Amino acid sequence: MEKLAINGGNPVISDREFQRYNSIGPEEVEAATSVLRSGVLSKFIGAWHEDFYGGPMVKEFESAWADYFGVEHAISVNSWTSGIIAGLGAIDLQPGDEVILPAWTMSACAAAILHWNCIPVFADIDPETFCINPDSVEANLSVRTRAVIAVDLFGQSADIYRLNSLAQKNGFAILSDAAQAPGALVQGRYAGTVAKVGGFSLNYHKHIHTGEGGVVVTDDPLIAERAQLLRNHAESVVSGKGITNISNMIGFNFRMGEIEAAIGIQQLHKLKEKVISRQEAAERLRVGLGGLPGLLMPSVSPGNTHVYYVFGMTLEPEFIDLSRAEIVAALRAEGVPALVDRYPTLHLLPAFQKKIAFGNQGFPWVSEFASRDVDYAKGICPVAERLNDEMFLGLLLCEYEFSSTDLDDIVTAFHKVWHSNGNNC
Ligand SMILES: *Cc1c(COP(=O)(O)O)cnc(C)c1O
Repeated sequence: MEKLAINGGNPVISDREFQRYNSIGPEEVEAATSVLRSGVLSKFIGAWHEDFYGGPMVKEFESAWADYFGVEHAISVNSWTSGIIAGLGAIDLQPGDEVILPAWTMSACAAAILHWNCIPVFADIDPETFCINPDSVEANLSVRTRAVIAVDLFGQSADIYRLNSLAQKNGFAILSDAAQAPGALVQGRYAGTVAKVGGFSLNYHKHIHTGEGGVVVTDDPLIAERAQLLRNHAESVVSGKGITNISNMIGFNFRMGEIEAAIGIQQLHKLKEKVISRQEAAERLRVGLGGLPGLLMPSVSPGNTHVYYVFGMTLEPEFIDLSRAEIVAALRAEGVPALVDRYPTLHLLPAFQKKIAFGNQGFPWVSEFASRDVDYAKGICPVAERLNDEMFLGLLLCEYEFSSTDLDDIVTAFHKVWHSNGNNC
């Protein structure tokens, strides 16, 4: 039995710097440079005017995005955090309305709900896909539920068809967050596009990016119009544009610049290739690691494709003698990069534990518009909590450009750790 690096043995991987993922090439340099040469870095005007919808690159990017994803409307924004805020505002929530979201997602989802003075309600996740569990959504419905944020966590769609039918039956809207799943398919349609409103992040951590940026997508013209208004100073546009429903029409500046849009057009051309490279890396890991006892490979739901923003695995403690912390320390010592052994379990953040958001008096939870005392105690999302505490183990596949040799060496390191230290396998 080979001595583990953590016990003084030779690490499996010691001879290289792993290559960081970089999707930017000469095409983006050329696109950005030509915008700079034009002198037009933005063309938005925050009033009802022909430039209300932005400049030529923004328009071209949006039209390319809508064509690619097969949606009626694509609305570029300066981040997907902004996009979630605009998308929820477009749905026309009232203060105190409840919006259900998964315990596992980026904090921006919960913050966006609070920004409309609405109440986040956390649903548990599915233990196999890590996405929001529709049963838990159903269990958390109340008379005040107006929306659900369905997050396509780690790169595959949530159970969007079932969520849509719950939405139809119970009269709420779905916002589909496909930030981590651009190009993933659900029953032949693109993740993010199978809901009232959805969208994508173009932040530099994601498969394709513009540094910062995002896109809201919808087939609903009213949602599109309201999102465009929220993006661009709605309050000063409504009268010129003849908008009569001015509810939630206090706008923001969420506008994307021309340089980012020009880069986005080029990035979109590369999406397919970037997705395939992650899928190939994931398959290599799956073949190499799939047989290790007590280590479950990412599960892909029937009808879904997965784009592996994260290669999310699960440890089964009953089959392994080592704790997760010991496994992770041993793998890191062997030179394995990109390991992640927990995920933000949002209801446990101080903002929710203390119910402090706007000011320090408990607003919006204590507001007269809220109808009940929502529970954020540890224990409300047992699956997410247990995965976070002891069972989840992921590889950040999107952050690196792993070669086949890199992947094979990562597999070797896992096998070495698994077969050592009195592990019963
Ligand atoms: C990245 C991400 C966001 C936020 O996107 P930004 O463009 O960084 O604001 C929201 N939701 C999920 C699931 C994400 O992964």
